[in-house]
Amino acid sequence: MAAEAQVPAAGPANPLLIGGDWVASTGDGALVVTDPFTGGVVGSAPRGTAADVDRAVAAARRAFIAGDWVAASAARRAEHLRALADAWERRGDELAELVTSEMGQHAALSLGNAVGPPRVLRYYAELADRLVEEEVRPKLLSDSATIVRREPVGVVGMIIPWNYPLSLLVSKLAPALAAGCTAVVKPAEETPLSALLVGELCIEAGFPPGVVNVVTGGRQTGAELVAHRGVDKIAFTGSTEAGRAIARECAERLRPVSLELGGKSAAVVLSDADPAQVVPHLRMRSFANAGQTCFLLSRVLVPRDRLEEYVAALTDAAESIRVGDPRHPDTEMGPLVSERIRARVAALVDEARREGADIRTGGAYANGPGHGYLPTVITGVDPSSRIAQEEVFGPVVVVLGHDGEEDALRIANDSRYGLGGAVFSADEARAIAFARRMETGTVGINSYSPDLTAPFGGYKDSGMGRENGPEALDQYRMYKSIYLP
Ligand code: NAD
Repeated sequence: MAAEAQVPAAGPANPLLIGGDWVASTGDGALVVTDPFTGGVVGSAPRGTAADVDRAVAAARRAFIAGDWVAASAARRAEHLRALADAWERRGDELAELVTSEMGQHAALSLGNAVGPPRVLRYYAELADRLVEEEVRPKLLSDSATIVRREPVGVVGMIIPWNYPLSLLVSKLAPALAAGCTAVVKPAEETPLSALLVGELCIEAGFPPGVVNVVTGGRQTGAELVAHRGVDKIAFTGSTEAGRAIARECAERLRPVSLELGGKSAAVVLSDADPAQVVPHLRMRSFANAGQTCFLLSRVLVPRDRLEEYVAALTDAAESIRVGDPRHPDTEMGPLVSERIRARVAALVDEARREGADIRTGGAYANGPGHGYLPTVITGVDPSSRIAQEEVFGPVVVVLGHDGEEDALRIANDSRYGLGGAVFSADEARAIAFARRMETGTVGINSYSPDLTAPFGGYKDSGMGRENGPEALDQYRMYKSIYLP
């Protein structure tokens, strides 16, 4: 959790990464990061000002124009990505511990998540090695030809949330750098320290000055970055509300923007599915990261005649999740990131309770220190109710009954979101056929196991643009046609 405190002040001890150097903020505002479980102070970082953003954008622009990044061959950029992966691997444990301290992610999960980014960096290094930046194409109406180029879009402003602060940073940074862009990173106010450590790794990896800049700060700092005239593209992950505000700002400037936003993803359980297979999977995928995961399977649609059986099994599963100290090997779930987020989760559940929802388990703060919230299973609500429609971003699952495939499809698609989803069936072909009809950007069969080589992103209010896979490179490139005479 970050407070609005002015002390400790920003200064040489709390610098920003701009133009390859650690520099003091021009302001004296500070983000004080406190451990969501112990409440102890983890550290502080500057609350970046408009002038800080301006310096960082100018440094990223200089690095872009200087040519030793863009004009360097993609293979050289790939070497840097590999060097960053090496540096990351050397300090992966430190990064993981920092994420647990900053936002309360369970240590097992943050350690697991620290392993992914270097693999992603190496994956984009490989794609950079094979990058086709130019092709010559015969013209349709003459004997001549056109050179079709794919050029890096330029300076990318990256605005990152706190829930997976490392992987959601690298899912933007790796393809953008591979494509030849330069970056100004604005991490979430809750998790500035891990982003600064990534900045340190970029220095270790020998990136030319200004290729990666990190300006910490709050929403205002993010808004300054979005509004800056020197930024060529914005890549954002976070709430739909903030995404909409950012998209409006970008529309005004006709600036490309990619948005990875919220979700209320449906797990559709068909009549032939086996609860013994479905429920353990939901235990993992519906409560991951204390529910602070965008693709969480938070709406579970089960055959109406087996509703009670599934609710009982999910209740047992939720009650078996041990909530507490995120560093303790006997626990599985840490606290929510902040009191603000816990209060929001509680307000949504309390509202559902007042409206007659059946809160089968949970629905209360966890005992002990920190912002813990108990894994919660809710049923007895209409699919159109707020608790069944709105992203809660906490460990809260709503179980709904359906009357067969067509009804399940109608309920699954009756959402303003479309980010994740899963279909469970004994018949894989039947599940795949169902998945094809779901209005969502990603869907799993008898599980939800995202693949970093395939495009990830949302339909409808879950966003636009895609991360992961070779498709992510296109988010950071523009076409240019050079017509030969
Ligand atoms: P948020 O969207 O407000 O913040 C995410 C990032 O965007 C932060 O870096 C923040 O400083 C920045 N930001 C916010 N408003 C901005 C603006 N107008 N211009 C520029 N930058 C801006 O998220 P939050 O308030 O911390 O979380 C609230 C809700 O957001 C959660 O309950 C959840 O529903 C959703 N969320 C979703 C994801 C996801 O992965 N899809 C991640 C985090 C939060």
